[in-house]
Amino acid sequence: MEVIEKQTENSLQEKLISLVDKISIASVQDKKNLIKKNDFLLLLQNKDLIFDYTRNKANQIRQENFSNKIYIRALIEISNYCKNACFYCGINCKNQNIQRYRLSTEQIMECCKTAYELGFRTFVLQGGEDIFFTDEIICKLIKSIKEKYPDCAITLSLGEKSKESYALYKQAGADRYLLREETANSEHYQKLHPKNMNHKNRLECLRSLKNLGFQTGAGFMVGSPFQTLDDIAQDLCFIQSLKPEMVGIGPFIPHEQTEFAKFPSGDLNLTLFILSLIRIMFPKVLLPATTALSSINPEGRILGILSGANVVMPNVSPMEQRKNYALYNNKASVNEESAEGLILLQKQLDKINCKIDFSRGDYQQ
Ligand code: SAM
Repeated sequence: MEVIEKQTENSLQEKLISLVDKISIASVQDKKNLIKKNDFLLLLQNKDLIFDYTRNKANQIRQENFSNKIYIRALIEISNYCKNACFYCGINCKNQNIQRYRLSTEQIMECCKTAYELGFRTFVLQGGEDIFFTDEIICKLIKSIKEKYPDCAITLSLGEKSKESYALYKQAGADRYLLREETANSEHYQKLHPKNMNHKNRLECLRSLKNLGFQTGAGFMVGSPFQTLDDIAQDLCFIQSLKPEMVGIGPFIPHEQTEFAKFPSGDLNLTLFILSLIRIMFPKVLLPATTALSSINPEGRILGILSGANVVMPNVSPMEQRKNYALYNNKASVNEESAEGLILLQKQLDKINCKIDFSRGDYQQ
């Protein structure tokens, strides 16, 4: 009996290996070679049988494309005001127990200055959907940063806007935009968001960003409430067809003042496995080892890199405001000085023979 079981396991493992190889050789440009949802699902259902193989392959592809370089981005959390009530997010507008803040232009410019002096050449401006930040204010900010730091890239992560607004940000000089789809399944989307938030619009925003020529980032939380492996397979299909230049994948982590407070965090190994699949699917993609990953495991960053990630985004927001940008509980590096943080990061990277790359780190075709 045991022998038969072992044989079945071996033949399944062979099938999984050939699937991973197929992802690696599939030209994402070629519609005929697209990986089907059921194939992704089979991999996800049997990840333990193929985990090491997938991780090693992803790590090798990262090294072939980026050598030992890890790009860094200076993350500036510009506001925790938000007009949305996403059920999972600690800064959602219904949460009355957090201290709201909004950085002034001067404070944001000061963060850029500190980051520039430390060697960063990409600034990521992230925030809730804060109506104070009109298109005019955002464009003025982009222009001021670009004027002062013409050799730097600007990434925005400010949520859903109209196509016209995105076009204005592009004209003003923004280079990249991060907007996770959160889930590619619209029924699942409605379980994570209130009725006034629209899945179709979120996906439409991503297409607009791509069409406008932004280096565009999609992605989702792993282990968000009600998510199934089938949903994740659907996300992988969505990402495969969108072909984003960046992909943000991190575990869901509960926040005690949200209605998802009692749900468990996303699984570390599943998150790492998905990072590897993304790297294999898109050898050149810009793939962060996220703060959420470091928050569920102190080695999260390094494990993420060893699974194919090639970007880290240290926080350079003003120290006194960091605790207030609490999307979830126990967020990593809230108290870490950015300068100290970089030294610590390089020390961690030394152990895996990697080094910080201080260039802009744009997506290369
Ligand atoms: N408002 C912008 C947007 O909607 O894209 C950017 C800010 S939003 C807080 C950034 C990302 O944080 C979201 O895309 C979401 O995936 C992630 N996030 C929010 N709550 C989280 C949680 N509880 N656990 C893990 N990630 C979370």
